[in-house]
Amino acid sequence: MRAVLLGTGAPPPNPARRGPSTLVALGREQFLVDAGSGVGVQLVRAGVRPYDWPRVLITHHHSDHTIDLGHLLITRWIVGQNAPFEVWGPAGTKRQVEKLLDYLDWDIEIRRAHMHAGRSRPAVHVTEIEEGTLMEAGGVTVSAFAVDHDPVKPAFGFRFDGGGRSLAISGDTRPSENLMKWSRGVDVLIHECCEMAKTSWAPGCGWASIEEKIRDLASYHTQPPDLGRVAAGAGAKQLVVTHIMPGSVPDELAGHAKAQYQGPIVIGEDLVEV
Ligand SMILES: [Zn+2]
Ligand SMILES: [Zn+2]
Repeated sequence: MRAVLLGTGAPPPNPARRGPSTLVALGREQFLVDAGSGVGVQLVRAGVRPYDWPRVLITHHHSDHTIDLGHLLITRWIVGQNAPFEVWGPAGTKRQVEKLLDYLDWDIEIRRAHMHAGRSRPAVHVTEIEEGTLMEAGGVTVSAFAVDHDPVKPAFGFRFDGGGRSLAISGDTRPSENLMKWSRGVDVLIHECCEMAKTSWAPGCGWASIEEKIRDLASYHTQPPDLGRVAAGAGAKQLVVTHIMPGSVPDELAGHAKAQYQGPIVIGEDLVEV
């Protein structure tokens, strides 16, 4: 089982990193975790054509994790895929997908009118998830676990066990005891590090000062000094860092993580396989 880091970025547009998204695969069985900006292009670069775009597991409904869900949904249909698009996600996913289909309705109907053989509308099958085992598919067991991203609730991370390997993906979270419990002993822990000291500030952005903004946003993400503690707490055999802000310096992130974690550390780059 392998994971391809399709997008290792954060909300700010960054030419070097696409939005959050990870492909997990064992043989032909594939799972896509999140659908951040640019995920379609990255799937193609990873060798997955639109007709075959896999089921999607959404960690939480922050827009940086879902913004290209509509692109995936409509593009696989445009190229001829009629099998239902599987979307798994927290409570609220059904409503979000219904609104997305409503937004795409005009495009869907104008395209259908242009087609000669009667074409059905795109089918989507949504499963709203809770903590626990979600599915066993193609030799892979997929589990969801709650993480701490308040006020975004529920927010999940995912664990994949298959092919003699285990992987956990944190989603967005502050350091989470529950994540450490669920990712105990994994071969690879793919963990967020949204370094809020690198955020920008503008008058009217919702915070009176940059200090206030950093404090608030740092409280629901994992900051560099906590990375190593989380990886060590989970007993992960390898730490892979993702959800990286444009201003973050990879060597600095690795330096922080090393202070409390002895295992190998990969600072994620787009399209790197782990
Ligand atoms: Zn988030
Ligand atoms: Zn995020």
